Amino acid sequence: ESAAETAEAEKEVAAEKEVAAAGGGVEDKYGEDRATEELPVTPWAFSVASGYTLLRDPHHNKGLAFTERERDAHYLRGLLPPGVVSQDLQVKKIMHNLRQYKVPLQRYVAMMDLQERNERLFYKLLIDNVEELLPVVYTPTVGEACQKYGSIFRRPQGLYVSLRDKGKVIDVLRNWPERNIQVIVVTDGERILGLGDLGCQGMGIPVGKLSLYTALGGVRPSACLPITIDVGTNNEQLLNDEFYIGLRQRRATGEEYHELMEEFMDAVKQIYGEKVLIQQFEDFANHNAFDLLAKYSKSHLVFNDDIQGTASVVLAGLLSSLKVVGGTLAEHTYLFLGAGEAGTGIAELIALEISKQTNAPIEECRKKVFLVDSKGLIVSSRKNSLQPFKTSWAHEREPVTTLLDAIKSIRPTVLIGTSGVGRAFTKEVIEAMASFNERPVIFSLSNPTSHSECTAEEAYKWTQGRAVFASGSPFDPVEYDGKIRVPGQGKQCLYFPWIWPWCCDFWSNPRT
Ligand code: NAD
Repeated sequence: ESAAETAEAEKEVAAEKEVAAAGGGVEDKYGEDRATEELPVTPWAFSVASGYTLLRDPHHNKGLAFTERERDAHYLRGLLPPGVVSQDLQVKKIMHNLRQYKVPLQRYVAMMDLQERNERLFYKLLIDNVEELLPVVYTPTVGEACQKYGSIFRRPQGLYVSLRDKGKVIDVLRNWPERNIQVIVVTDGERILGLGDLGCQGMGIPVGKLSLYTALGGVRPSACLPITIDVGTNNEQLLNDEFYIGLRQRRATGEEYHELMEEFMDAVKQIYGEKVLIQQFEDFANHNAFDLLAKYSKSHLVFNDDIQGTASVVLAGLLSSLKVVGGTLAEHTYLFLGAGEAGTGIAELIALEISKQTNAPIEECRKKVFLVDSKGLIVSSRKNSLQPFKTSWAHEREPVTTLLDAIKSIRPTVLIGTSGVGRAFTKEVIEAMASFNERPVIFSLSNPTSHSECTAEEAYKWTQGRAVFASGSPFDPVEYDGKIRVPGQGKQCLYFPWIWPWCCDFWSNPRT
């Protein structure tokens, strides 16, 4: 036996010498090195939380709702007061507390604190009180939150990819602790709501949007990833703000910008795969939004919420309005103030739907839709100077420069505001609509509330209560002539309950 052992030991030594001579260390008999070669080395580890740590883990913490049995099983005895409070009672208590805050931003901060403390309770609260809390976690409050993100910033939320990460974006994505990501919402912060360039502080938007994906669309919170691409900001106020949390430089453009985006899009696909992923572009300025959508829709499952999401909700709103005002989509005439992502996106979907309903060529259907931008009505004589995404709307007409003149010349039945210019639907504008329409349809979609083209009250008052009105940000019901009128809200997130099942269906049967 000992002779056999000696021979075996000599063999092992010889083998190790051979490996060492070849420049290696100990022979990798069990493939251990190979296992680590192929997997990225991550700087974090999974552990099962219990006791004190469990109470500080927002994904699993239930606070006082832990039952007696759970308190024993998870070493929580003594770490909580003895009272057990049901989740329903917790919801009641938090709603009571939230309603004490008079300033909307305080409610926003309280909701974010809850999300960081007890995720289950946060989503239960949101699901049970969606109408009341939507304006808190999303527009209009999220706009103010983004503007002040630097000073209300507590724990970082979401993932930041900045110009400094160029060349190692994949490593940044690997730092995110979840692997099974199904929905990403990404912004570069250049056009946040109607508030303009908020740079890195745009993070409030993907975070808020994704909480709605969970509350309205049923997507697991851990499968959602909010991302902000920080390429700088041209917002002087932020650049000079000592509390600004982003890169303190002017926005990168051109090749530098597109190289980072390309690296990011490749890294996303490499890490999370392409199948169970919706990647939603959010609040990009329109000079990038249209190009990014066109470029990446060939290789990734992407969509742009501002261009396509808004359009689907507004088309649904128009179809509902027809029940009140009568006629078919094709029998109406549409005028937009604002010819950017939202305006041209909605305009195109209206034309597509008319084309589908009437079998007419899309070019003919586009003739029912007119758009006014900051330079006036979009007409053929402006074609050479228009941005490419506006050219399909350059109809043969006399140029006019004001919205009022456009209304008088086109006599639209539907007026839609997507300009981001607050109070642009003046008394004259709304009265002009009411002068030749029995039931003028007026959608004032710009956000936040201060940028809405008119208020619900103005729309009803100046049309003697005849307007069919909807807005992007919510307005309270209005009493006019003894009747209560409840304005509709045209918000992208209303299609979230539909988009996720659609994606799942799409991937299970892409041909349909
Ligand atoms: P955008 O920057 O792409 O487009 C804005 C458009 O308005 C541009 O065509 C610009 O020329 C035009 N404009 C600016 N000033 C004008 C003026 N004084 N007169 C006429 N036109 C003017 O922005 P966007 O993504 O299209 O968003 C526009 C607004 O719509 C924002 O306030 C945004 O919050 C809102 N929006 C609402 C929803 C919703 O669900 N309700 C969805 C998306 C966007």
